[in-house]
Amino acid sequence: MAEDMNLITAWMQEQQKDRSPFIGPSGATDCIKRHGYRYLGIAASDGVDLGSAHMGTMLHLAYSQIIRESFSPDERDTEVEIDWGGPRPGSADDVDYVNRVVTDLKSTSGRSLAWWMEHGVTESYWEQLSLYGLGLYEQHRGNWTLRITAIVVDGNEAEYPKGTLHTFEQPLDVGRAEALRGFVMQRHERLMELRSRVQVGEEPGSLVESLEREGDGPGTFPCDWCEFASRCWPVPTDLDRTPQSETIFEDEAKVGEVAAEYKEWAARESEAKREKKKLQAFLKGVTGVFVGPDGATYTVTKVGGEPKQVVDTDALVARVEEIDGVVPMKWSASAAWPRVTKRKGSS
Ligand code: SF4
Repeated sequence: MAEDMNLITAWMQEQQKDRSPFIGPSGATDCIKRHGYRYLGIAASDGVDLGSAHMGTMLHLAYSQIIRESFSPDERDTEVEIDWGGPRPGSADDVDYVNRVVTDLKSTSGRSLAWWMEHGVTESYWEQLSLYGLGLYEQHRGNWTLRITAIVVDGNEAEYPKGTLHTFEQPLDVGRAEALRGFVMQRHERLMELRSRVQVGEEPGSLVESLEREGDGPGTFPCDWCEFASRCWPVPTDLDRTPQSETIFEDEAKVGEVAAEYKEWAARESEAKREKKKLQAFLKGVTGVFVGPDGATYTVTKVGGEPKQVVDTDALVARVEEIDGVVPMKWSASAAWPRVTKRKGSS
């Protein structure tokens, strides 16, 4: 087993080594600064989660094996390199030439699958598939279907336990895929221009700073999964600031812009909380499956456990005072958050 794991690790490292830094179908609409680090050859500053990568790799290897054993490659093939006319070709997990279906296998958590069932699959996954579909359409013509096969490998969702399989499909929209390719090519040209400046001696670290951060920073997606996160975001020079506020605190116009946006979302949040609380009271203690006025099915379950015993701090403090009169205290970090008020009549 250890030997098999070493083989998988070696295979993955080999893949990383050979990987071109140019934009491919996966991550086509990734943050431009992240692409910038890659194009300019800047080393990653953060590790990646190898646990889920191992799991994904094993699943892909097993899936490919099943396809190879079950079909002839001209009917249905696996790990198919697809030239979609972009900077770097992609590799599709499964291409069914007979039924014109291109499939991407996604290992995921039960929680993510629950989210996808309710809100649809993450858009970037469809984008990746539509670029594969575009390459296949240009080579073979016909109407292609994009398919995502999701398999749950993580989490404890009762409704979507490990091993749950679900497929999502949509037809290839050639026009949309071509527009996406155009967007990628524009970004590629911009990044290649920076790359050529590095080749004539300019410093890559300062060139990459000319690219916008398209993520919202630590604590959010995609930055928490980005291998350049700690290089990209500054360490605050003041304990009260976050890496995000460190980037704007000297720019008054930018702070004003963020404050206005914050105020707007805070108002919406308060309204949403009020509405939610009101409706929760009508549902408390009710469970079951119900059909809403929109025709959709809603499952109402009880969340949270039974009442439990907690430390009675008042009694505890009284008891300690009774014994030796000194209640032990310590400093804890400030939980202060910004509050934004809008001055009446200011616009
Ligand atoms: S940390 Fe976030 S903003 Fe910075 S490069 Fe990565 S994804 Fe982009």
